Amino acid sequence: MSAGQWPTGTMPALVFTAPGVLAVERVPVPSPAEGEVLVLVRYLGVCGTDVHLLDGSSAYVVGGLTHFPIRFGHEWAGEVVAVGPSVPADLVGERVVGEPFLSCGQCLTCRGGHYNLCPNRYELGVRGSVPGAAARYLRIPASNVHVVPATVETAHALLAEPLVTVLNAFEQAAAQPGEAVAVLGTGTLGLLAVQVGVAMHCPVDVVGIDPAGLAAARELGARAVWTPDDAPEGAYQIVIEATGSAAIGPVLTRIAGIAGRILQVGIPGRPVDGVDLAAFVTKGLRLSGVLGGVDLMPRALRLIASGAVTPTALIEQVLPVADARQAFERMREAGRARPKLVIDLSDLQGEDSA
Ligand SMILES: [Zn+2]
Ligand SMILES: [Zn+2]
Repeated sequence: MSAGQWPTGTMPALVFTAPGVLAVERVPVPSPAEGEVLVLVRYLGVCGTDVHLLDGSSAYVVGGLTHFPIRFGHEWAGEVVAVGPSVPADLVGERVVGEPFLSCGQCLTCRGGHYNLCPNRYELGVRGSVPGAAARYLRIPASNVHVVPATVETAHALLAEPLVTVLNAFEQAAAQPGEAVAVLGTGTLGLLAVQVGVAMHCPVDVVGIDPAGLAAARELGARAVWTPDDAPEGAYQIVIEATGSAAIGPVLTRIAGIAGRILQVGIPGRPVDGVDLAAFVTKGLRLSGVLGGVDLMPRALRLIASGAVTPTALIEQVLPVADARQAFERMREAGRARPKLVIDLSDLQGEDSA
């Protein structure tokens, strides 16, 4: 295959074939398409969303927005190896990451600028039938990809995907320097929120249940850490809910201060009980849901390049693809100071079988 030539034949892919079953399958290499690029996927981030897709408990599975078999993978980094019609050839060879939302571009939501919420959207490897990045190659619209800054390691760049969500949360909160922030949860989104809050000169407290995660939050500059029961009442202008736990409802309204903004980032698998709606009135609270973000990935990459967000503080391990199952098991364990696991897909990079 010469440089820039679009490969054909079949390729290996990681697929959730049924609840709890992760398998390597051979699938067709996607064919060239107008406006799209083909990426050789180097690294795959394992996200809580993937864990819940695999075990079938995800709101996307339960709600019928996706179904098995699922080729997962929405956090990824790789290299453009070929481009389809209408795409500049100079993208070939670039290291890229990408936005997961494949939206229609035509509906009122898209035309209003909210392509992350398009009712007709696919979310790469998560929602709908578009296969994710867990394969040797990923075909994706050129408009979705962003070139990784030269100083950022490829494996680190995939954190730009969850970082977009965190930046959108702070943007929707209209966060100002000095405002007190509570971050609920010490997973990837939680610890990214700590770093962004600290970079914005906000005092950031973290509420969680994993001592290792809370210690990691302190290392990253959190002012204080609390268990859900101990977190101080009415103390925060901004509350970022990044656990996705359905049990956390009462905590949100209790710890939010006057005119507090609650940003729901986690996706609970069932309705949340115990949210004190009266507090929304008496304290003037506001609640916003946050799903990804719009046009924030360049800023996310710049934050990583600047050192304000440090990927090494979040990535526990880069595992070979042979250990992919162990990665999913590890994601379920407690005692995770560094929440992110990355799968190195280079062992998937054998010869094409045409
Ligand atoms: Zn994710
Ligand atoms: Zn749309």
